[in-house]
Parts: sequence; structure tokens; C-alpha cells
Amino acid sequence: MNTEKFDVVILGGGNAGIGVTGPVRRAGMSVAMIESHDLGGTCPNRGCTAKKVLVAAGHALHEIERAAIHHISVGKPKLDWSALSDREKDLIKDIPANLARSMARRDVEVIKGHAAFAGPNAIRVGDRRLEAKHIVIATGSRPRQLPIPGAEHMITSDEMLSERELPGSVIFVGGGVISLEFGHVYARAGADVTILEVLPQLLPAMDVDAVARIQTESERIGIRVKTGVSVKRIEPANNRLRVVFTHQGTQHVAEADRIVNGAGRVANVDTLDLAAGRVEHGNGRVAVDRHLRSTSNPEVYVCGDALPIAPQLSPIATYEGDIVGRNIVEGPKYSPDYGSMPTSVYTVPALAAVGLTEAAANQKGSAIKVHSNDMHDWFSARTYAETVAWSKIIVDQATDRILGAHFVGHAGEELVNVFGLAMRFGITATQIKDYIYAYPTFSSDIKHML
Ligand SMILES: Cc1cc2nc3c(=O)[nH]c(=O)nc-3n(C[C@H](O)[C@H](O)[C@H](O)COP(=O)(O)OP(=O)(O)OC[C@H]3O[C@@H](n4cnc5c(N)ncnc54)[C@H](O)[C@@H]3O)c2cc1C
Repeated sequence: MNTEKFDVVILGGGNAGIGVTGPVRRAGMSVAMIESHDLGGTCPNRGCTAKKVLVAAGHALHEIERAAIHHISVGKPKLDWSALSDREKDLIKDIPANLARSMARRDVEVIKGHAAFAGPNAIRVGDRRLEAKHIVIATGSRPRQLPIPGAEHMITSDEMLSERELPGSVIFVGGGVISLEFGHVYARAGADVTILEVLPQLLPAMDVDAVARIQTESERIGIRVKTGVSVKRIEPANNRLRVVFTHQGTQHVAEADRIVNGAGRVANVDTLDLAAGRVEHGNGRVAVDRHLRSTSNPEVYVCGDALPIAPQLSPIATYEGDIVGRNIVEGPKYSPDYGSMPTSVYTVPALAAVGLTEAAANQKGSAIKVHSNDMHDWFSARTYAETVAWSKIIVDQATDRILGAHFVGHAGEELVNVFGLAMRFGITATQIKDYIYAYPTFSSDIKHML
């Protein structure tokens, strides 16, 4: 077997891996990127971008639902799921090829195959052996396997994005982001949707009041939500599937056409032969220092979903990839700062957040001012016949800095970026209020939210 030498070998061609290539190629380093499936990874091919096409259809249905308020008569909408699925596939189909061209322009050698360590500085892929001064693990994540009998009957977001027809009924096991997002699209399209969550709250990392709003809205569109549930087993029943679970000490059964694993995702690092690379790991995680460098092998870095120390989101994967690239070029100098990362749960309407929840802000101990507003009777919300419009902005009393901002509806998935920008660059609550916003926009309500 010939050994090929590179300055940097990147395992995985998703947001994180691609994020690494910018700094290292600008520094003139030779780079190989190994990708086992499609360039672009989860986000464009099986995640954010693909899902958003379905969410956009959910928005259209939501608008149609409220057409009568605008004195528009429409019939009962009918969604052609297989045509929508074709639209989704069509919109994303060119992404891997476009990225391949972009990597070729950057002079990154892309190798197709499954990579694993062959030594502390060596990677094997197929019958090739690559040696590198630096190795980056950017292999992403996959759905968490649930240790319940019959778990093999569950499907994941990958299958949901490829469904050719709308299932009549769906049960999501786990009340996280993926369950809520797909649940809203399915429910609006006419499916019977149930979400079973083991914890007392859906979306446990989100602000409790924001979650209460989105749970109410989810129930309004017909989604059944049960929290504090323990799923015991899944089994075939009458050409459908049955979930057996306990809730408040009583055993229940529910049947559906599909049972979806919505129990979160785990790092994809267990098939990399980390021991051969002398990469310390435990509980499915690689141990890293604050520069995202393996604690046991200083030439190995980890970024993106493969490093579950921050929310598994594509802008975070790209950001960490860029940090790793710069650390490789300049030496370990940079560390991620996750304090002002906006995020959205793309329900219809969305739940969006940046910074601390009210509970977390209170735990920090400094005096805070909480501006909480139910905005559904504000003029802008009434104009657009919003079904839910709510915000909570948390301000540090001593510094006037924004500590957190949370929205449900009211274009919160756009407004959250204003607050993220303010947090990142130290713009105070008073300055945000003083700004002159285009009127009438949802952003012009920011003054009143504070
Ligand atoms: C359904 C869904 C919806 C989502 N929606 C959003 C959203 O709206 N907004 C958002 O910010 N984030 C969203 N995410 C999360 C986002 O997709 C991820 O955070 C992001 O893609 C992570 O990028 P990454 O580069 O770390 O991993 P990935 O994009 O998963 O890339 C890793 C790549 O490594 C490859 N690979 C794995 N093992 C090997 C190996 N041994 N050898 C070679 N290649 C390997 C994989 O094939 C993959 O292409 C969503 C995720 C899912 C599943």
C-alpha cells in the first residue's frame, strides 16, 4: 500500500469539514477530504435545507388556514406529498456537485470512502493510506439508538425526508427539535400526530415559557403532546405499529403508521478506530481541550456534530471548522464562544432563541430585567392574523446588555438575529430601542418589546 502525504486530512465533508478548508488552503497547506456519502453532509442533503422545503409548505398551509380573516375564500387545501417530496429533492439535487466544484477550485482533494485511523498520523480509506501532519474529525452525527424492544421499527428524519406519501398517523418518540418541526408539517398536511417525551418539558434546553407557547400552538393544530412518558416497547400491530408506554403510573398503547425516533443525535466517532489514532474518548465523545484539539493526540482536532459540546447546528459546525482551520495554521490560539448563537425551531410559526433562558440567567446571580410580552393583540400581529406572537427579552440590569431573547411567532426566526448581533458586538438594550426601524415591520415592534 502506497502512503500519500498531506498537511491536513479532514474526515467528513459537511459544514464542519468544509469550514476547515478555508483557512488551511489560504495558508497553502495540502488538504485531502474524505467523505463516505454526499459532499455537504447532513445540512443540505438530509437536514436543514431539505427540511425547510417541507416547512415552507407548512407555512403556505398556515396562511391558507387564516385566509378567511383576510376575506379570501379558498377551498380545503390538498397537499400532494409525492410532488412536494420531488420539489424537495429537486431543490437540493445539485448541492453535492456544486460543492465538489468548489472544493476542486480550492485545490482540496476529495476522496470517496469511509475513513478510519491507521496510526496517530495516518488514515486509511479503502486501499489508500494517507499520512498527515494534522487530522480533523468532522464526521457529524446520527440518530441516537433507543434501548427499547422494537426500536428497529422506528424511522428517522432521513426516511421522513424521502417519504413518497403522507402517512395517516405518526408517533414521535422524543420531543426535541426534529419531532416538533416534522410534527408541525405533518399535522398541517392532515396527518394525526402524537409526540411522546420522557422529560417533563418538550425542547428541554429552551425557555420554559417559550415552550409552553409552542406546545399550546402545537395542540391547537391537533398534535397530541404527552410529557413524562416512558416508552416500553414498539411492536407491529394490524399492519401498523404500536407503542406501549407508561404515563403517570398507567400503561397506555397508541398505534400509528410510522413511529419516528426523535430522541436526538450522537457523534459519529465509533467506527473511526480512535484507539489506533491514540485519540482519547469516552461515552461516544472525543476528549478535547478548549482549542478543539484531542487531549491525547495534539495533531487531531474535532469539530461540528462529531463534537457534541454545543448545540448540533450547521452554523456552529462551520464556525468550529473555521476555528480548527485557524488553529492548525496559527497554532492552538482560538476557542469557540457559543454565547450569542441564535437558533430556531422551525415549527409553524417558529420558536427562536439566543443567549440565556430566564432560568439560566437567574442562576448566574446578577440582577436581570425580564421583558415578557404576549403580542397577539398588537397591531402587527392582528394585521397578519398571527395565531401566536410572544417574546421575552432578558437584560442585565447593571450593564444594560442583552442576556437572552426568545420568540414564538412574530418573525422571531429573523428578529433573533438582531439580538444575536447585539449580544456579539455589545449593543445595549437602550441602543436597540433607540434604533429607527423600517415601519411597519415586525422589527419595529422591538422598541415595544423592550
Ligand atoms: C433533519 C435535520 C434537520 C436539521 N435542521 C437544522 C436547521 O434547521 N438548522 C441548523 O442549524 N441545523 C440543523 N440540523 C443540524 C445540522 O444539519 C448539523 O448540525 C450539521 O449538518 C453538522 O455538520 P457537520 O459537518 O458536523 O456534520 P455532517 O453534515 O453530518 O457531515 C459529516 C459528514 O461526514 C461523513 N462521514 C461520517 N463518517 C465518516 C467516515 N468515517 N469517513 C468519511 N466520511 C464520514 C458523513 O457522510 C457526512 O457527510 C438538522 C439536522 C437534521 C438531521
